[in-house]
Amino acid sequence: MLRKVRLAFAIVFLNWRYQAVKSYKKFLAPFSTLFVFLVCGSAIGQMDNRSFGHPILPAPADPQIEAAIQKISPQRIQQDITTLVGFHNRSTLSSNDTDLPKGQGVLAAADWIEAQFRAYSAACGGCLEVKRDTFTQQPGSRVKQPTVINNIYAVLRGSDPAQASRMYLVTGHYDSRDSSNEDTHGFAPGANDDASGVAVSLESARVLSKLHFPATIVFVAVAGEEQGLYGSHHLAEFAKQQGWNLEGVLNNDIVGGNTTPGDKLQNKNVVRVFSEGIPATASEQQIRMVRMLGGESDSPSRELAREIVGVDRTYFKAGAAGLNAETFHPVMEFRLDRYLRGGDHYSFNLAGFPAVRFTEWREDFHHQHQNVRVEDGTQYGDLLQFVDFHYVVHVAQLNAATLATMASAPGTPANARIIAEKLDNNTELAWDAPAGAPANTTYQIVWRDTAAPDWQFYDSVGSATRVTVPVSKDNVIFGVRSVDPAGHRSPAAFPFPSRFRTPPLSKK
Ligand SMILES: [Zn+2]
Repeated sequence: MLRKVRLAFAIVFLNWRYQAVKSYKKFLAPFSTLFVFLVCGSAIGQMDNRSFGHPILPAPADPQIEAAIQKISPQRIQQDITTLVGFHNRSTLSSNDTDLPKGQGVLAAADWIEAQFRAYSAACGGCLEVKRDTFTQQPGSRVKQPTVINNIYAVLRGSDPAQASRMYLVTGHYDSRDSSNEDTHGFAPGANDDASGVAVSLESARVLSKLHFPATIVFVAVAGEEQGLYGSHHLAEFAKQQGWNLEGVLNNDIVGGNTTPGDKLQNKNVVRVFSEGIPATASEQQIRMVRMLGGESDSPSRELAREIVGVDRTYFKAGAAGLNAETFHPVMEFRLDRYLRGGDHYSFNLAGFPAVRFTEWREDFHHQHQNVRVEDGTQYGDLLQFVDFHYVVHVAQLNAATLATMASAPGTPANARIIAEKLDNNTELAWDAPAGAPANTTYQIVWRDTAAPDWQFYDSVGSATRVTVPVSKDNVIFGVRSVDPAGHRSPAAFPFPSRFRTPPLSKK
């Protein structure tokens, strides 16, 4: 808005100066600058009243987190992806094969991933609980016979008993496929899709297991993705049954920074973050409220995506050391997933958990779900040579920084609401302290124009859990987030109104 107003006045001003010069009224020119400045200033003041609150600033960096993400290693990422490609074909259906050479197939890959988690755990005095979620998938459209699926995961239990039930989870899928869903013997390297995502989980586990966080982090590699998200579906249901309080799931699928020779449209400085708008589990009543309030872009998954942007601003900044000195930003995609595609984050959404998907900027579909071959001079197949390990490092750093920040911050405020009892240009907000929050937890009110994608303003309200601000709820979207003394911020909670008038059902 400010920019448009400035632009409009600049055009009027330039035109006026031109006219002034043309009519030899040059003596007016020096005064005109001052005059326009005053006019513009007062017009902007009236049109864009932001007298309350402060522009959003990045949270302070946590030196421990900064040091940890510097330890994410391009060599390790390269080794992890290379080893996974070395299993030749990681089709989930290969768990039924008895004729595979030793060291090939999905079961060999599962054993290797488990061994990695166990090695990281040994290096931190047994700090990880390494587990398997093993089950038999019954036949479906892309599973012809009962098939054993193994999800491998490692739990870094929270150090604060009051907060350890809060969990953040990072996942990638270790199964691969080529052109045929049924092929369990042909070369299906799956370097980008999705050894890259598994490498993100593994490296996050390796560097974060050296630290302690109040809340719990779960590092995961699932299978069965290519046949219909079977592994993640089972794990999400298991999490629900076990009462896991999953506050956020980061799914990394195709984060290899595909590098096709001659492709000028790939962008290695960004990663897409997909998130659902209206929650998959929203009730009819919630959907009606969301429609009335313009809350279509404030699901818990989307608030998580916004906090990923916030974490990026803290850790990928100009002047930072090492790899972080480079520009690297998440681009929020306000949709569940790409056209014609799905991913494991959706399994968690369906189970009622906030979850997002990281994917490289521009995919090359010749390098996904394809038999390795050269056809008309084009190389097909998800080969190692197209993966940019340096890019995967950046994605892993952003994931690890997000997990560490969220597991350090207090939980998201509970039961956030706008007290809407009467017509009022002020806004009264109230919320409850998140479960297990330390006594030194404080809160920030954040808000943005209804048409803005990300938070623009904030006000710190100390330890209060009820506050009135002179900003109209009719003009902005509010959120409330928790902050600890070191500045770690939780994802925001979208406040629902305490009173809600149901729209009339009949048309007028
Ligand atoms: Zn995939």
